[in-house]
Amino acid sequence: MAAVDPGDAAVVERYLSEQGLRLVAILITHHHPDHVGGVLELVAGRDIPVYGPAAEAIDGVNRPVAEGDAVDLPELGARFATLEVPGHTRTHVAYLAPGVLFCGDTLFSAGCGRLLGGTAPQLHDSLRRLAELPADTAVYCTHEYTLANLAFARAAEPGNPARDAWQAECEALRAAGRPTLPSRIGREREVNPFLRTAEPGVIEAVAAHTGTRPADSLACFTALRAWKDVF
Ligand SMILES: [Zn+2]
Repeated sequence: MAAVDPGDAAVVERYLSEQGLRLVAILITHHHPDHVGGVLELVAGRDIPVYGPAAEAIDGVNRPVAEGDAVDLPELGARFATLEVPGHTRTHVAYLAPGVLFCGDTLFSAGCGRLLGGTAPQLHDSLRRLAELPADTAVYCTHEYTLANLAFARAAEPGNPARDAWQAECEALRAAGRPTLPSRIGREREVNPFLRTAEPGVIEAVAAHTGTRPADSLACFTALRAWKDVF
């Protein structure tokens, strides 16, 4: 098994032991403590590769990766490509295999990460890039923020039946104690206001909120991200 962004070693160790699995690699998307907090404990006594963004020093990372670098996990028969997706942080990376995306805190279901080091243009570009992936790509983001994000998405684009349908599905999943993740890129294109900053409904909601009509997708995205910060 590989672990992505293990914030807590105990959770991973418990899963390994319950499932009878062996940890063969760790993949890190960015340096925030809730994503790397378990790394040093997990690598103690294990000689395993720890992949992470080359552009910053992260304790425990021994396989620094940059745009286009391959992450080979032969024990799992898996190969990922590294995508640089700055914005949430300046050096955030994502890992992509056919049909599977680990995107850390860049793209969430119905939302996106906050600007904590990177810029709005960077995050806008990174999200546009992820939105162009095949529709059936599974989106494994790192936090179960979906219902809270959907509450904002409703304000940011009031008339969106696809979003309402996804909200009903997510409420049922959470009521049953199940995760709403992974999402899919195709769904996110339909429900996520941060991927829909060229849609009339989002532009109008942003204009009504700020009193200024955004000139383009980036201006709409920037205003939307600032609005969500105080929502
Ligand atoms: Zn983060």
